[in-house]
Amino acid sequence: MRVGRGSNAVYDVIVIGLGAAGAATLSALAASGARVRGLDRFNSPHALGSSHGQSRITRQAIGEGSAYVPLAVRSQQIWRELEAEGDEALFSQVGCLILSDPEDRNERPPGQAFIDRTLAAAREHGVAHELLDTDAIRGRYPQFVVRDEVAGYFEASSGFLHVEACIRAQLGRAQRAGAEVSPLSRVASVRQEADHVVTTLADGQKLLSQRAVVSAGAWAAGLLGPPFDTLLSTTRQVMHWFSTAAGAEVEGAWSRSPVFIWRHGSGRDDFFYGFPSLGGQVKVADEAYGPGVPADTVDRATPASDSRRMFDAHVQGRLQSILPEPSFAAACLYTVTPDSHFIIDRHPDHPRIEVVSACSGHGFKHAAAIGEAVAEKLTHGASRIDLSFFALSRFAESAP
Ligand SMILES: Cc1cc2nc3c(=O)[nH]c(=O)nc-3n(C[C@H](O)[C@H](O)[C@H](O)COP(=O)(O)OP(=O)(O)OC[C@H]3O[C@@H](n4cnc5c(N)ncnc54)[C@H](O)[C@@H]3O)c2cc1C
Repeated sequence: MRVGRGSNAVYDVIVIGLGAAGAATLSALAASGARVRGLDRFNSPHALGSSHGQSRITRQAIGEGSAYVPLAVRSQQIWRELEAEGDEALFSQVGCLILSDPEDRNERPPGQAFIDRTLAAAREHGVAHELLDTDAIRGRYPQFVVRDEVAGYFEASSGFLHVEACIRAQLGRAQRAGAEVSPLSRVASVRQEADHVVTTLADGQKLLSQRAVVSAGAWAAGLLGPPFDTLLSTTRQVMHWFSTAAGAEVEGAWSRSPVFIWRHGSGRDDFFYGFPSLGGQVKVADEAYGPGVPADTVDRATPASDSRRMFDAHVQGRLQSILPEPSFAAACLYTVTPDSHFIIDRHPDHPRIEVVSACSGHGFKHAAAIGEAVAEKLTHGASRIDLSFFALSRFAESAP
């Protein structure tokens, strides 16, 4: 279905930024028959934005908010459909285990621990799950060294996404459906003029379209200006890979492991997550907070001291048979809003421009369904999955 051609428009929709969100949007728009072009300043998938580093956790009962659950569930279906079209693994359904130490649950208001919010979302949306006590966790997962009274929530339907392959698959599907994909095409500005949108590339070339989607991740604030430059801020995050000890009893357990999210205290920093071993390497990460840094000036170096801090703060004493010397690390970018929820909405001053900022550290698992929903909104005027939770107006409502 065509979006409806303006008098000057060459494209129905131009999608700016082809990471997790943009590739999915381009793919869904192309599949709907729209004439679309996707632009990326780099050659997506690449390792300079928010969508690299091998893997991302996907789970269905989203403790961060009930509005995310339909997106997570639908995204898993889309990854499966896409996987069937190609020859790369996209979604490894290894299960997802959430672990919670007693301090995590007891030192917060009742029901506020992440595991409790996850359980509430699972019950509300009918997501199949198991609750595990300490003995069950120890019996099933010897790779985790759990203290007494650690509680577990396990979701068998979930696991991890192979991120670079997911983006390749979306871009491939988009191109097969007729989309133009333009790497190394940095957009310098995008604005609405009368009944169309003008996208200007860094080399001065101007492209006209009926609508535009800005899914520029950590660069969106700079490209869009107000109000996004005050709502979106970028922080540096680091992912770490450690080897499992060769010949260790739990080597097999590590290769069969579910993904895990572990809250081992009530402090903001008492949290880390990880993945099964791939090629003898276990990937783990925590979250860094602090002042935002413009995407182009983020420090990409990953000194071994970063990984040693990670090991000492989280891995040591909790993960069995992981060697302390890091194998590899990579910096990645979170783009966060003041309330950590996404922005998926029209630009307030340029209503033909749709802003899709699906970041804040938990966006990949939802990206496929976000792309589909944004495409439905642009082609049919509304999406089947309700996106109103992600509207910009919530920030105006909370202003003093
Ligand atoms: C360390 C880390 C761990 C994470 N773990 C998880 C997890 O386990 N589960 C989960 O669901 N999510 C996770 N996330 C979050 C998730 O990865 C992100 O929410 C998601 O990848 C964001 O996708 P995006 O499309 O918004 O941004 P990106 O993928 O960065 O895409 C933005 C694209 O826009 C392009 N671009 C920018 N400016 C321009 C311009 N001017 N012109 C043209 N192109 C431009 C960039 O080159 C880039 O390709 C994690 C993120 C990080 C950093």
